[in-house]
Amino acid sequence: MSDIQHRTNAKQPPFPEQRQTPPGLASEMQPLPDHGEKTYKGHGRLAGKKALITGGDSGIGRAVAIAYAREGADVAINYLPEEEKDAHEVIALIKAEGQIAVALPGDVRDEQFCQNLVEDAVNKLGGLDILINNAGRQQYCESIEDLSTEDFDATFKTNVYAPFWITKAALRHLKAPAAIINTSSVQAAKPSALLLDYAQTKACLAVFTKALAKQLGPKGIRVNAVAPGPYWTVLQSSGGQPQEKVKQFGKDTPLGRPGQPVEIAPLYVTLASDECSYASGQVWCSDGGDGVL
Ligand code: NAD
Ligand code: MG
Repeated sequence: MSDIQHRTNAKQPPFPEQRQTPPGLASEMQPLPDHGEKTYKGHGRLAGKKALITGGDSGIGRAVAIAYAREGADVAINYLPEEEKDAHEVIALIKAEGQIAVALPGDVRDEQFCQNLVEDAVNKLGGLDILINNAGRQQYCESIEDLSTEDFDATFKTNVYAPFWITKAALRHLKAPAAIINTSSVQAAKPSALLLDYAQTKACLAVFTKALAKQLGPKGIRVNAVAPGPYWTVLQSSGGQPQEKVKQFGKDTPLGRPGQPVEIAPLYVTLASDECSYASGQVWCSDGGDGVL
């Protein structure tokens, strides 16, 4: 059995109950998610590239950061200050590959911070070739009547405004053949009742991707989105789903389990790679077999 089969087979539902306060820490999940720390093998596909990844401390962003470093890229990660413990581990893993690692904590709901984030990343990396808009807020709410304006606003600021602000700032630096990848979701096409605000933001990101690809194609910049299905990350256990759903997370997919973050990283590598030079304006789904998008 390969490393990957062995790893994923070991992480089947049911999972233990494990409530965390958002944003939560990947390092406190049971079982620990697999971000590829021990097994992702690079092939130099992003050699010499410089990437900024929001939400790069944990989950999908962390798996992408590890994969990018092993593919030869220098990587800057953004995350919230309370996630320093997770971020510290990622920075060490990037450095272990001999790549430049830049830690840029801060809240992307603030436009000025988003502008500073891009400038800091460019200065410390010495340029920018790849932007991954991946930070996300997901807090479930049973009824629209209980969904506050503050919560609605926080979800839109994190998931929709921040990618807009960060992308705008990054365009001053991105030159052909650059790539932008936005993390959307299967929620964009198949929304859950419990995720009324979140699902809307992920549909926004899919459309943002398609329209922006049309603007930036003539400049040689490709824009794609990745739409994950259920992935085993702390987003889910820190209020993204009710605990009853966390315990059975991913069970109703054809593969019968959630994806591990390492399993989606190759899509982000491929889409960022110059090898994929004709793919733009598309939403690429990885959801364990439901075929939602
Ligand atoms: P995660 O919690 O590990 O990552 C989300 C990250 O977003 C956090 O680590 C945090 O650093 C960042 N973030 C949140 N609010 C922020 C803010 N205000 N400022 C700065 N950073 C902030 O969970 P994940 O599942 O890896 O999430 C990554 C992306 O994947 C998100 O956009 C999420 O919506 C999307 N997604 C996840 C799943 C899934 O099942 N896990 C499914 C579809 C889409
Ligand atoms: Mg995190």
